[in-house]
Amino acid sequence: MAEEKVENVVIVGSGPAGHTAAIYCARAMLEPLMFEGFMAGGIAAGGQLTTTTEIENFPGFPEGIGGIDLMARMREQAERCGARLVTETVVSVDLSQRPFVVTSESGETVRTRALIVATGAIARRLGVENEEQFWQRGISACAVCDGALPIFRDKRLVVVGGGDSAIEEALYLTKFGSEVLLVHRRDAFRASGAMQKKLRDNPKVKPVMNSTVVRAEGDRFLERVVLKDVQTGAESAVEAAGLFYGIGHKPNTDFLAGQLELNEAGYVITKPGTGVTSVAGVFAAGDVQDPKYRQAIVAAGSGAKAALDAERYLSGS
Ligand code: FAD
Ligand code: NDP
Repeated sequence: MAEEKVENVVIVGSGPAGHTAAIYCARAMLEPLMFEGFMAGGIAAGGQLTTTTEIENFPGFPEGIGGIDLMARMREQAERCGARLVTETVVSVDLSQRPFVVTSESGETVRTRALIVATGAIARRLGVENEEQFWQRGISACAVCDGALPIFRDKRLVVVGGGDSAIEEALYLTKFGSEVLLVHRRDAFRASGAMQKKLRDNPKVKPVMNSTVVRAEGDRFLERVVLKDVQTGAESAVEAAGLFYGIGHKPNTDFLAGQLELNEAGYVITKPGTGVTSVAGVFAAGDVQDPKYRQAIVAAGSGAKAALDAERYLSGS
């Protein structure tokens, strides 16, 4: 009977982290197999950048590049280097066995000596009325990505959330907007004391406590948001060109089913500065292990690290 094939390394996820890991693994002659996902977590293969338009902060593209185009190029580069791609979502892994067992949605199983988890994260959405209509037309979940767009210049902007992300986004947006309303559903921020101090020190950010955003309004682009006071139920409309969500992200780690050490928010825990996880031979890269930076170039860099870590692991060094 023919012996079942064992892969050197399987990569799960196809954003900048996964493709960079694939390029590095392929060039190291590891013949990587990537599961790029099929609408995994509601996102097309290629990851979060396929949901946006122009990327202006990825080095090498002085004129900017469309998110879909950038990811198509990464995919092409990974394939050209020798990575094999499977357009399926991984539904479970068994990390208690060696080699590890990876099962995709078709029920096929693959055995592998090393695994790189690069499944990304999804920004939580608020689900306000008319959200789909104004998504990327005023509503965004990434201030660093979209804040510099001309539609936000010198206009009132609204950020929702009370954690570090929301405050960081609000402070960042003061560079572009005339003022920033920071709408939080409770009467106290969850953010760290240091971040709250920065907030108090910036007069351009105005906290609006005990409030939520219930509706987005406008014509082609966002023009107003309707706020609701959670204590009185009273609604009021405020002019705003931008509505930014800072209400947290959900890392795509459900398929790991508790087999890797995750933090309380579900992110894979990696040894600082590396892709090394709690299970030897399993590495993680990109937003799935990064609650802080969440940028394509950072994800790509961590994909390279995870691949180099995997290569060293496989060579026993
Ligand atoms: P992702 O890009 O999230 O990719 C992960 C992929 O893995 C996805 O395709 C997902 O479907 C797939 N996957 C998930 N689970 C499975 C599974 N079980 N099996 C197989 N596949 C799976 N960053 C910038 O630097 N500049 C920008 O201008 C910018 N703009 C952005 C605009 C928007 C609207 C958003 C949402 C993000 C933006 N970002 C930007 C952030 C950037 O997209 C992320 O930091 C980056 O994509 C993270 O890369 P990643 O490889 O970790 O994961
Ligand atoms: P958090 O989970 O800390 O905060 C999410 C915020 O959004 C909370 O204030 C929460 O309200 C609010 N929220 C959640 N759901 C809703 C909803 N449906 N409607 C209205 N509000 C909602 O996420 P963050 O992304 O802010 O932070 C994640 C981690 O990353 C934290 O550990 C943080 O410290 C870290 N981080 C650190 C940074 C730094 O040090 N510079 C920068 C960014 C993040 P409530 O408080 O009521 O639950």
